[in-house]
Amino acid sequence: MDNLKLAALLFSEIEKTPEYYEEAYPQRKLKEGARVTRFAPSPTGFLHFGNLFSCLVSYKTAKTTDGVFFVRVEDTDSKRKVEGAIEVMLKGLSVYGIAPDEGVIAEGKEKGEYGPYYQSARKEIYQAYAKRLVEQGLAYPCFMTPEELDEIRASQENESIKGIWGKYAKHRDLSLEEIEKRISSGELWTLRLKSPGSLEGKCFFDDMIRGKIEMPENVQDVVILKSDGIPTYHFAHAVDDHLMRTTHVVRGDEWIASTPIHLQLFRVLGFKPPKYAHIAPIMKEENGGKRKLSKRKDPEAAVTYYAEQGYPSESVNEYMLTLANSNFEDWRRVNQNEALEKFPFNLKKMSVSGALFDLAKLEDVSKNVICKMPAKKVYELSYEWAKEYCPELAALYEKDAERATAILNIDRENKKPRKDIAKWSDIPDYVSYMYDESFVPCFELTGNATPALAVKVLEKYRNTVNLNDTKDEWFERIKGMCESVGCTPNVKEYKQNPEAFEGHVGDVSTVIRVALTGRTNTPDLYSITALLGEKTVSERLDKALEYYKENV
Ligand code: GLU
Repeated sequence: MDNLKLAALLFSEIEKTPEYYEEAYPQRKLKEGARVTRFAPSPTGFLHFGNLFSCLVSYKTAKTTDGVFFVRVEDTDSKRKVEGAIEVMLKGLSVYGIAPDEGVIAEGKEKGEYGPYYQSARKEIYQAYAKRLVEQGLAYPCFMTPEELDEIRASQENESIKGIWGKYAKHRDLSLEEIEKRISSGELWTLRLKSPGSLEGKCFFDDMIRGKIEMPENVQDVVILKSDGIPTYHFAHAVDDHLMRTTHVVRGDEWIASTPIHLQLFRVLGFKPPKYAHIAPIMKEENGGKRKLSKRKDPEAAVTYYAEQGYPSESVNEYMLTLANSNFEDWRRVNQNEALEKFPFNLKKMSVSGALFDLAKLEDVSKNVICKMPAKKVYELSYEWAKEYCPELAALYEKDAERATAILNIDRENKKPRKDIAKWSDIPDYVSYMYDESFVPCFELTGNATPALAVKVLEKYRNTVNLNDTKDEWFERIKGMCESVGCTPNVKEYKQNPEAFEGHVGDVSTVIRVALTGRTNTPDLYSITALLGEKTVSERLDKALEYYKENV
């Protein structure tokens, strides 16, 4: 067989050579040890939490080594293309602070010397490399029809090795004449790799996350170009990651099974293979077992979920690092106020079996992040969120931004800030009693506080409350009225002799708290009282008094 003739026949329009591209995309000039990674989404328009997670891992891998992180759009499957998908994905990344150094940086907009970064614009490049493989006798056209392939697939049901190999690779050795004849009669062809693998052969590689992996060598004559001349993922990623000088391919572990194919492709193409880091999928606990976080079953699988719920990006990033590196939480304990970027991310510390997604844990992490934010930041971020997702809260804020900030500042900006807010969508409920529009009275009491005690407390308190009090004066006033309502200002004293009192200062406060807020647990009652203002305070005290009088 004259391979050169065959290559010229199959790729008559391809003039540029691999040498041309090797020169056009030279080795990057980066410092020793710098890693080049990429995010390579198919433009489906849906950003799965798992994608964001693996993107973050890829990004960190580059950033912690002063390397390069780029975005390449894998849009060779036109059936799966969705309008506006790239924008959705890039926006998803930018929310979490992932800004590509290079590649597709906006829909239709590219940056960098290693493009084009849309695979659909790289057809000629793939074909130049495919042509070279044909010239070297390492690839061949295959004319098998979909029906024939289906038949083979069905017949292989009980075989351990599937696909086109050995006796199934019927068109491996067609003569040039035969090929010419088929092509001129309009038969469609795909280009297959002539796999140099053997059944006894082994493929070894050192996965950055999983360590040494040994698998059978690939023997399949996999398709590298489809009948429309578009490459398969296997072939495209090999050519792209080589020419874009990717050093580390971070991707989902569903690709492990194909890695022997990929390594073989790198070998026949004469490329140095990248290092692979295969990330296990994010798991969820269900009925005592584990399953993958699912786009269909779990709303939190969509990255948009976090924005809708109003989790600050800082929280999600922080949470992703707890999932990514087992030592992150220890680091955080020691470096409480350090920026996330300072964390020495390490691929080797990633879970092999799949990190477990836990919404409660995210809430915890997020509460810790939010409690450290100054009130102004909480106000600004939650206002941005509210404008999009909660117009009622935005309207409340707009009535008086200063007051809203002061409300958010209660028990904040101190050594032990409260951790009530995990996400912005918690705020409407959290602040509801601070606004007459959203206040829902509730007169249920706890502890020793009874309606009878409440009547006494409120009758007294409505006449003594003074909004000009300092915090100490205010508390003294409450303590001061204890005796007159049959309580003690001293909790210890109450505990020693409970029969002697109707309750203690805590119970007196509960009555006031419930009257003013409808709740038994709130942040600092003094600040709440001051921010409610005289009119609201006296109205609410009166309403509560009325209620308890009727319900003694
Ligand atoms: N386009 C592939 C995917 O979305 C990319 C895999 C890779 O990162 O190489 O699964």
